[in-house]
Amino acid sequence: MFIKEMEFVNFKSFGKRVKIPFYEGFTAISGPNGSGKSNIIDGILFTLGLSGSKTMRAEKLTDLIFNDAKSKQPEFAQVTITFDNTDRKAPVEADEFEISRKIKQTKSGYYSYYYFNGKAASLTEVHELLSKAGITPEGYNVVMQGDISQITAKMSPTERRKIIDEIAGVSEFDEKKQKSLAELDIVKEQIEKIDIIIEEVK
Ligand code: ATP
Repeated sequence: MFIKEMEFVNFKSFGKRVKIPFYEGFTAISGPNGSGKSNIIDGILFTLGLSGSKTMRAEKLTDLIFNDAKSKQPEFAQVTITFDNTDRKAPVEADEFEISRKIKQTKSGYYSYYYFNGKAASLTEVHELLSKAGITPEGYNVVMQGDISQITAKMSPTERRKIIDEIAGVSEFDEKKQKSLAELDIVKEQIEKIDIIIEEVK
């Protein structure tokens, strides 16, 4: 599974509608300072609701709406991510699907909406779908500036091991193993109880 395309409408420095294609494997984005490269990453964090643990560079959500100080600020910003799902990593029976988020500014405040394939969805639904494909807010699907030095220089070997386990998908199995061991303990206890009853009956 990979991001196939992103569409920005009035998001940060992307005034109007801008489509950016991505490719399987590796896509590098280059451009002068301040040209909007990091705004693309902010678009990913915003759309997939991953900004809980990573910081988008905006003080408030409405700062994400395009504002060039020359014209009236648009009322909304929207980012749509199209995923290629030909490998069926996400539990969607289609070769591609879309997740979109819109933020709308009104006189009484702002509203945020998520969409899955154009239909309204909750953030929980979006997270549930993405987690099946290994994308989680705590995960390292998006590596921010500073994350690498944090991992290589500042973390203890145990903390680093935890991250590697998470990325490799080992921690998921560790959790399942712990759960199974706990269930096994309960079964063992029940067998012991039944054995005692059998002994008493004899
Ligand atoms: P660098 O190489 O310096 O990290 P970059 O290519 O990553 O730069 P960004 O940080 O993505 O660039 O973009 C910063 C630009 O986005 C700035 O020029 C800033 O004015 C502009 N910008 C941020 N928010 C908005 C907004 N709401 N409306 C219009 N422009 C915005």
